[in-house]
Amino acid sequence: TPGIRPLIAGNWKMNGTAASLGELKAMSEGSFGQVEALVCLPATLISRAVDAIGDAALRIGGEDCHNAVSGAHTGDISAEMLADAGATHVIVGHSERRTDHGESDAGVAAKAEAAWRAGLVAIICIGETKAERQAGETLAVLSRQIAGSVPKEALAANTVIAYEPVWAIGTGLTPTIDDVAEAHAHIRRELGLLLGGEAGKMRILYGGSVKPSNATELLNVEHVDGALVGGASLKAVDFLGIIAACP
Ligand code: PEP
Repeated sequence: TPGIRPLIAGNWKMNGTAASLGELKAMSEGSFGQVEALVCLPATLISRAVDAIGDAALRIGGEDCHNAVSGAHTGDISAEMLADAGATHVIVGHSERRTDHGESDAGVAAKAEAAWRAGLVAIICIGETKAERQAGETLAVLSRQIAGSVPKEALAANTVIAYEPVWAIGTGLTPTIDDVAEAHAHIRRELGLLLGGEAGKMRILYGGSVKPSNATELLNVEHVDGALVGGASLKAVDFLGIIAACP
């Protein structure tokens, strides 16, 4: 989208140990051009990754946060803790969180607000399941998820939307270019109704089986302002290939 700086965001999911820090260092030494590059990591790696990449432009994020600042929530991590570790962004409402942990739209909205409170950019994920697509409900699902998961105070500076069709995540399947264009235009319209002028500046990422070989085509679709990348973000060569494909 004209005037919007593209964002390529990686998501390592539950992958990576100290042995992976070399791969991150290699990524951080790549050339990003005008692209903003981010890798969201397991919490155990965040501070070590920040140390390993030094003053490189690569940004480091978390994959989820609790909505509270602190307290009796064993195993959870607050947005403040992620910021303290050196994160600048956090993914909220990834479909794997929505499925594995029963996260609701309202819960995701609360996490986005927690991210802002800690000074982090929230990457709010939405997307339809295969059954919803087959039932012709894709756009209705996106409208419902935007209304429920995106707080109406969201700003382009602190919020990114990631459209991830659930059936395209980790499957090697991608929607057609026309389907991506239709979904992203719909998301832009819905954000406009919710947020007014901020919507025109907000990044809308596509996620789901993005790799170097399909990135050019996907990243050139109107209203696609970058990508959220799972599997292909684990290797520097693939991730840098996707960054290089940004128009
Ligand atoms: C994701 O986890 O957000 C994702 C898009 O995964 P993949 O790229 O592996 O499909």
